[in-house]
Amino acid sequence: MPDIARLVRDIAEEMRGAEERGKVATYIPPLALVDPGHFGLCVVTADGEVHAAGDSEEPFSIQSVSKVFALTQALGKVGDTLWRRVGREPSGTPFNSIVQLEREQGVPRNPFINAGALVVADVNLAGHQPRVAIGELLRFVRYLADDETITVDEVVARAEQATGFRNVALANYMKAFGNITHAPELTLGVYFHQCAIAMSCRQLAMAGRFLMHGGLYEPGGPRVVSAQRARRINALMLTCGHYDASGDFAFRVGLPGKSGVGGGILAVAPGKAAIAVWSPGLNDAGNSMLGTFALERLAEATGWSVFAP
Ligand code: GLN
Repeated sequence: MPDIARLVRDIAEEMRGAEERGKVATYIPPLALVDPGHFGLCVVTADGEVHAAGDSEEPFSIQSVSKVFALTQALGKVGDTLWRRVGREPSGTPFNSIVQLEREQGVPRNPFINAGALVVADVNLAGHQPRVAIGELLRFVRYLADDETITVDEVVARAEQATGFRNVALANYMKAFGNITHAPELTLGVYFHQCAIAMSCRQLAMAGRFLMHGGLYEPGGPRVVSAQRARRINALMLTCGHYDASGDFAFRVGLPGKSGVGGGILAVAPGKAAIAVWSPGLNDAGNSMLGTFALERLAEATGWSVFAP
């Protein structure tokens, strides 16, 4: 096994100097202002060692990475009945696509495309005011990361509320099929705020530990989810976590991963490591360009893969 600390530093160094960095998302105005020069990487290994390099302490907008935590929360509330309202198949379409919803009667393909995440937010909203539902998710993420300083970036949340017309369309369209149960603006409010959670690579990698430890908070620690649920969340991350580029990510990195348009990716090497990477520039599929390169390098050098012993 290579020296992980050194590998993390070397990768950060290499990515810092990269010229081709992709394009930052501009459709959410505050994200357009983020410097594409950032790069952060954090690896938490199974024995609890934390290796971080670059801008690993700087909070960024986790965006769709939040869908992993929101899904975990929703499964905790309604269990497998969730799958009556959202599927478990890769969509083969971009994250914000609406095309499949008409043919498939308002049931989104999976919980990681926007339509699916809106249904998940609607589940998490049940019985609560939106602010309470968000508070609950934030408390859960703080617990997982063991860090009380994690917050929602209100500027980002408000910007999405003002410009998220596609998400508004998705929510209203599913409402017409009865698959959004609240007033769409309330469900959207929960969704926009969860996407606006700001976390650093270190916080994100720490929050992903339960997925490397078969559902345990840490080895010998309390159970967050059952081993089966952790496996299934990892399976969904592998098959759906990068939208229509999920196959490419599995091919190149070989680990469950969830990306966000803020340029973050959370990846899991079961039994070995939880990894978070951040580089704001995106590739054509809306996934972090250098983040994917970095994970590819890391997986290659360590041999971490769900397809190899
Ligand atoms: N908040 C973003 C949106 O709804 C999340 C998308 C993403 O990170 N891929 O468009």
